[in-house]
Amino acid sequence: MSDLSPTWSLTAYFPTFGGPEYQTFIHQLQADLKSASTTVETTVPLDDSNHDGWASHFATAEDIGARLGHVGSYLGCLGAADAANEDYQAAEAALASLQAQFAKLMTLLKHGLSQCSDENFEVFLRNASLADATHELTRLRTSARFQMESSAEALAADLGVDGISAWGRLYDTVSGKMTFEMKWPDGRTETTPMSQRRALLTHHDRRVRAAAFHAGNTVWAAHEDVMGAALNAIAGTRLTLYSRRGQNHFLDAPFHDASVSRATIDAMFAAIDANLDVPRRLLGLNARLQGTAGIAWFDQDAPQLPNTLPELSWERAVALCDQAFGDHYPHLQSYLRSMIKNRWVENEQRPNKRAGAFATGSSVINEERIFMTFGGTMSDVTTLAHEVGHTWHSHLLTALRPCAQTYPMTLAETASTFAESILADGLMADPGLDEDQRAFLLEGSLSHAPSFLLNIPVRFKFESRFYAERAAGTVPVSRIKQLMTEAQLDVFGDTLDPAGVDPWFWASKLHFFITELSFYNFPYTFGYLLSSALFQEFKREGPAFLKRYETFLSLTGRATCEDVVQQALGRDIREETFWAETIRGLTPRIDAYAAVVARKLGAPSV
Ligand SMILES: [Zn+2]
Repeated sequence: MSDLSPTWSLTAYFPTFGGPEYQTFIHQLQADLKSASTTVETTVPLDDSNHDGWASHFATAEDIGARLGHVGSYLGCLGAADAANEDYQAAEAALASLQAQFAKLMTLLKHGLSQCSDENFEVFLRNASLADATHELTRLRTSARFQMESSAEALAADLGVDGISAWGRLYDTVSGKMTFEMKWPDGRTETTPMSQRRALLTHHDRRVRAAAFHAGNTVWAAHEDVMGAALNAIAGTRLTLYSRRGQNHFLDAPFHDASVSRATIDAMFAAIDANLDVPRRLLGLNARLQGTAGIAWFDQDAPQLPNTLPELSWERAVALCDQAFGDHYPHLQSYLRSMIKNRWVENEQRPNKRAGAFATGSSVINEERIFMTFGGTMSDVTTLAHEVGHTWHSHLLTALRPCAQTYPMTLAETASTFAESILADGLMADPGLDEDQRAFLLEGSLSHAPSFLLNIPVRFKFESRFYAERAAGTVPVSRIKQLMTEAQLDVFGDTLDPAGVDPWFWASKLHFFITELSFYNFPYTFGYLLSSALFQEFKREGPAFLKRYETFLSLTGRATCEDVVQQALGRDIREETFWAETIRGLTPRIDAYAAVVARKLGAPSV
């Protein structure tokens, strides 16, 4: 651990941005994309005479996709690390046009693969050169089945630019310019951008949270008609397209995207409904800590315990991850060491860097990178562990063909959350910590539970009920607010103070206005519970489990969620018991937290 560079090296992607290697790569990619599109467009659809040809078209498209991914990852890294650089922005815009051409190639490919009989397609899938592509090809064929004829799809895509996407852009523009009058506890009033409200809602002083919440909602209320029109139009467009495409239910498309069945998601939410006492108990403890009968909507993300951990150096942060991984998962430790040694982690604090953190990689060079800004806090160490989990997942897939290296959102956060859990466990076992520091870490390790087991289910329930009513016509704003309030009270129960509900949460949450994806909520809960299940299994079984864990990760691009879990863990996720056991598995940590709360309040534990 000698070379701890604050910046990353990207020269393995290209020696220089815009240099001869980069130019040649882009030109070759353009030429190959053009020629592949012409070839696929002029080939007769798949029948029993041209299996080898179509297998080769598919492999060519996969290769082009991987090369586009290589450039996308490279430009994404450059742009994040130097957000003011206009050359990178121009290159990203040029790449977007190549990506649009690639999307057209994939549409042609889907069409070509969907015309033949099921029997013929079964034989095609047995083609020797299509090993590990069965899952992706089956998904392509299924999605092609739920398409209108190509001219209608083309018209829908063209109209969408000024239709559904425009409603999403309107939301972004209006909400992006919003400000609210923040009244600080000391009497100061400050005009504050709405984008800062979220951070204020995590403030340790409850008066600050309440002020940001109420002042912010005054502004959302003033814009509720615009937001309600956008929400109705986005859902209405989708419902029209679903019915024209022969999709019977508004959840069919989101479930297809997530590679998961309705039976599984029904079982998961049934288990949550039956075990709401577990996450509610956690919020009840927080209410006691803050001295209120129940929590308000604006208390959900507030820290209750003080952070007394010292500020950390980057060296110390890496050492903490290194030690936790080394104690529990030596392969992950060696991988982290190689990332640090090869300068794959950008962590410097400096101007012109984008906010946030991400993991990326390229299957052209089989390398990964992490982007983050290290500010010396424990939450930054958790971010490092989280992103290393992501890159480790990619690393385990590098030997596979490109289409088997991509996985749905439902399976995307498993490895990251698993690595976070290993870190949290390792940190809490550190004998050098005092009681308060350990309590602070414990609170952090439980903070996901109310978000994924209460807040996200509220969004899912609200959105399901909204779509069901929207099918019968426009839903008035007063009714949207009522649906939102009802969902909150249903899920939170009496842990939520009825005076503390948020009727405008549907307006303030950007996720409801993302036009590319609908139901951007249940995959979060799925990922959280699945990774909790894996971690609980790891705790029970010990190091022997890690082999099955790696099998699990390596299968994520080659099967449905149900099959991945069945093959790697031998469990059926369509059964409610799988999810219920996992939720109840959180109890020992909540017991420990209850003991901390009791100690703080000098009262017996509940
Ligand atoms: Zn993540």
